[in-house]
This record gives sequence, C-alpha cells and structure tokens, in this order.
Amino acid sequence: MKLYNKPAHELHEMLAKKKISSVELTKDVLARMDETEDKIHAYITETRDAALSQAAAVDEKIARGEEIAYFEGIPGAIKDNICTKGVKTTCASKMLENFVPPYNATVMEHLEKVQPVVLGKVNMDEFAMGGSTENSAFYPTHNPWNVQCVPGGSSGGSAAAVASGSAIWALGSDTGGSIRQPASFCGVVGMKPTYGRVSRYGLVAFASSLDQIGPLTRDVTDCAHLLQLIAGHDGYDSTSSASEVPDYTKALVQDVKGLKIGIPKEFFVKGMDAEVEQAVRGAIEQFKAMGADVREISLPHTEYAISVYYLIAPAEAATNLERYDGVSYGARVDGADVVEMMTKTRSEKFGEEVKRRILIGNYALSAGYYDAYYLKALKVRRLIKEDYDKAFENVDVIVTPTAPTPAYKIGEMTSDPLKMYLQDIYTVPLNLAGLPGISVPCGYSREKLPIGLQIIGKPLDEMTVLRAAYTYEQSQSFYKEMAETEAKA
Ligand code: GLN
Repeated sequence: MKLYNKPAHELHEMLAKKKISSVELTKDVLARMDETEDKIHAYITETRDAALSQAAAVDEKIARGEEIAYFEGIPGAIKDNICTKGVKTTCASKMLENFVPPYNATVMEHLEKVQPVVLGKVNMDEFAMGGSTENSAFYPTHNPWNVQCVPGGSSGGSAAAVASGSAIWALGSDTGGSIRQPASFCGVVGMKPTYGRVSRYGLVAFASSLDQIGPLTRDVTDCAHLLQLIAGHDGYDSTSSASEVPDYTKALVQDVKGLKIGIPKEFFVKGMDAEVEQAVRGAIEQFKAMGADVREISLPHTEYAISVYYLIAPAEAATNLERYDGVSYGARVDGADVVEMMTKTRSEKFGEEVKRRILIGNYALSAGYYDAYYLKALKVRRLIKEDYDKAFENVDVIVTPTAPTPAYKIGEMTSDPLKMYLQDIYTVPLNLAGLPGISVPCGYSREKLPIGLQIIGKPLDEMTVLRAAYTYEQSQSFYKEMAETEAKA
C-alpha cells in the first residue's frame, strides 16, 4: 500500500489502529524520496537516521498501548530557515552553509512535544528572498507537476516535498507570499497565519514586521491540525499575540451559508492570466451555490502594495542581515584587516538577490532618502491596512487568486527581477496588513499545472478562513483527484 500520498489525518488513524507502523510509514516516504529527489531536489539536509529512530520510538509508544497525538510518528520536513538544534540550518545561503544552531525555534519545541518524524531541512530562496526557489545558493527545486517549472518560493522545497510525497507535511515561512504562492504552484494547501499567531523565535529573520511561520499540507484538515500545534503565545517573541488559541479543528465543518465573501475588484485586472481568472471565478460561483453571500468590494491602495513591500522588506532585511559580518555568525573569508575580511565575507557569501535587497534597503534607509522612501512606505502600509479594516466591516472573508499565473518555467524570470516582484501582487498585502490567508487548490491550467485560491481573514480569525477553505475543498471532486495524483517526477 502506498502511504506517502495520504494526508496526515488518515495516516494518524491508521497508526492509532495499528494498521501501519511509523517505521513502515517513514520507510515508505524515504523510498519515495529516493525516487523523486534526483529530479525535484526539495531537500538540503536529510536526517534519515534520526527520522527512523523517532519513528521507532513512536511505535514503541503505540505498542505500550499509549495514545498518540496528531502528527506523532508522521514524517514531515522543515524549511531551512527554521532553527533546528544540532541540525544544519543554512537558509540556502553560503553564508550559513555550516551553521548548526545550538537551540530550537519555538515551533520545533512545540512539534517535539508530539514527536513527529523529521525527515530533513528543505530548500528555499536564499534567506527567503524570492518566489521561485531559484535563488537557493545550492540548486533550484523543481515542480513535481512539471519538472521544467519552478515550485514557487521561497518555501519551494516545502511545497515540492509535500506535493511529491517526500514529506506528508512541511513548515514554511511567509514574508510576502512564500507559503501561499508555492502551495498554489504545487497544488497543496498553505497557510500564513495572522502576524503574531505563531512565534518567530528561531526563524532566521528576513523582514521582522512581515515574517510568519505556517503549515504546508495535503489538505485543509491537516493544515488546521498543524496550525494548532505551532500557534500560541511565546515570551521569546515580543510581537507574539497573547490571545488564546481556539480549537481550529472546530472549523472543519461544511458551512458557508450566509458567509459574507468580498471579491476585491482591484484584484481582477485586465491582463491577468485567463486560466487563473476562470478557475478563481469558478470557485466564487461554487461559494455562491453553497449559500455564501458574495459581494464586490474595493481595496483601493492595492496598486501600491508591491512598491511598499519592496521598500519595507529590503529595509528590514538590510538591517537584519548586518549580523553576517564574519565575526559572530556563519562564514568568514579572511582578509588583510577587519574591513577587508568583512567586505570579502559579505561579497563572496551572499548571493545576487540578497545583495540587491541589501542595497535597496540601505538606500531607502539612508539619510536624505529615509523620508521619501522608507517613511512614505510606512504611511502607505497603513493605508493598505485601513482598506482591509474597512472591507472587513462588511465581509467575513476575502477571496482572490493566490498568484497571477500558474508555475512558470525555470529560468523564465531570472533575468528580470522586477517582473518577478510583480508576481507577488496578491500575497504581499496580507503581510503588510498582518492578516491570515490560505491558499487551496482550485483547478488546473490546460498544461495540468495547479492553480490556487486565496482566502483572507480578519486578524486572528483563522477559524473562518479554515472553515471557508474546508467547505470549498470538500465540495470539489478534483481535489481528491489532485491528492491522489502521482507527482510526475
Ligand atoms: N517573493 C517575495 C520576496 O521575494 C516573498 C518572499 C517571502 O515571503 N519570503 O520577497
């Protein structure tokens, strides 16, 4: 029996009923990894031995007749910017190529309470800067649906691992779309929680006012369960929300009757990909048919979101990345004196895109430009947030495409960073406004590449987002088909 293509909730039942063992399951996923990794390259570091001993420990627990928690004994993967004690955390950068964190990120501490099986650390754009995983300093990850295409990014390894069956679940991070867009490109579910819902402690910082960790899973049920595990207040993260974590599994009911859904007119613009538009409009019709109250809304400042994001994110990145100076963290390239050492270290160990962001960020923050760029961006960020506050006075959730196109070919965008930045138009506003959002599959293109639907919620209202996503998912026959489709790898 193939196990690698099943969602965690089914595998959990099978484990609890002793129909399978965790070692058997882990071996099945590892065998799948052997089959796919040559073509997909989702992983940077594999922790196979540790995974098998974790699995054996869970099996012993089951044999003792003890109950197992959700995700206990179920193999998954961790994005390589989440600190894992004793296991390399490279951020897909030469700068941190040999960095072994002496501590765990808070999300890892949460996970370890239930003993999941961790198969390894997965590929990403260097320091999470990018949308295709081509900016990894090691190698690009390929899309399991078509290996000539990108898996999206920056959590491309996480999405590709889940889509290809070389992990049942994964954690990613999302600063401007990096969980949702790869989920959309790879046909899996990905959620960026509300800013502050999940601790950022131990997540290598890119843009601290935008970064969030979140789940990538085969379906909405797994997403709710994984969010449940990682959400909550953390004294180590000063921006962590103190509000109580609800029981997200209560959101797993099929009910959107009377749910007020806003469709922002600014998101459906001339020139958007026709297949994406068709799939998303189809999903909106489906919501109507299920009794939702769908209405047009306006988010007038959407057109500024990319400019604002690409000032604030690089400004924060330039500041956060100052710590990589060859002294306290990561790589060092020797020089005749300290200035030459730092210059060489930063010039040789950061990739092109990271350097571009540092330059943009420092420019926007420098005396004379600060008011014109950074401060202005902060003001427009507030206007964007106010658009959403206003919209949410009249609607419960907002539905949009996740990305303007399906996955594109590897190399197609690399020569034009601006074009790549424009791809983030539907995802960055949520980070700027701190809102939760999920991407769920809503169809395929003619070339059989997945298309994602984004559902956006009010701050800390992951419940309603999950309920809408679950109801939609359960209404779709292609969804089951997608879950069972063999990745082409
Ligand atoms: N694509 C966006 C960027 O390049 C988002 C990245 C992210 O969310 N980490 O910055």
